[in-house]
Amino acid sequence: TPVIEFRDVELTYPGPPAVHALRPCDLRIDSGEFITVMGPSGSGKSTLLNIAGLLDAPTRGRYLLNGIDTRAMGASRLAALRGEHIGFVFQAFHLLPHRSALENVELAMLYQSVPRGQRRLRATAVLERVGLGHRATALPTQMSGGERQRVAVARALVGEPSLLLCDEPTGNLDSDTAASLLALLDTLHRDGMTLVVITHDAQVARHGQRTVTIRDGVLSEPARQRTGAA
Ligand code: ADP
Ligand code: ADP
Repeated sequence: TPVIEFRDVELTYPGPPAVHALRPCDLRIDSGEFITVMGPSGSGKSTLLNIAGLLDAPTRGRYLLNGIDTRAMGASRLAALRGEHIGFVFQAFHLLPHRSALENVELAMLYQSVPRGQRRLRATAVLERVGLGHRATALPTQMSGGERQRVAVARALVGEPSLLLCDEPTGNLDSDTAASLLALLDTLHRDGMTLVVITHDAQVARHGQRTVTIRDGVLSEPARQRTGAA
């Protein structure tokens, strides 16, 4: 079963004027794939990621997440599915400023059925996994950009998602720090994580096995790397 399957998915903002943010497309992403999404500003990258992340519903077509047809699901069912399957990493790290790294990660488990006593153990383990075991008590303001983004990755991973969606994860990082964040994503990929990463940066795109390009809402990818042709 693919992790992500778009069947003739389309998203149009009604307007007027109507905006065809994503033209009808098929997309299949299998478990363990590392895929990058490239395209100019306004081309539809966030729209694609928001649909994949169950933050927006397509106006037409079907989106199956791990084989589950998400069409016509209500908000609470979608939220539950999102929490169970998906981790998000954004360009701006979105950490709570007055909470430590450990607390930021623990808070991500608040609405999941993780027993309170388990939260600290799991948060500690996942901070260690991203190389920040020694920074657990630090506040975001005491951390570098690279460290903050690692905390954000830890927070995304703590729910044990099958899919990690990253929107310009290196957009606020200098090139050395970006390289180290990409090395972390490579490690997650080697460990079997499915990754979808939006980027402007061709350097970042080289890390993925597959690149999808979007232009004016039209999704395309080089034929030679296409996997499941629809
Ligand atoms: P990208 O992430 O590549 O910058 P987006 O997916 O954010 O592109 O946007 C795709 C298109 O949809 C753009 O033309 C954008 O202006 C438009 N758009 C995004 N959100 C809305 C909205 N809420 N209402 C109307 N148009 C929108
Ligand atoms: P990374 O490569 O993970 O971003 P750096 O080598 O840039 O880490 O930073 C090392 C240390 O310097 C960090 O532990 C942090 O305490 C401190 N530091 C770096 N940049 C900043 C910053 N912008 N604000 C606060 N502390 C910083």
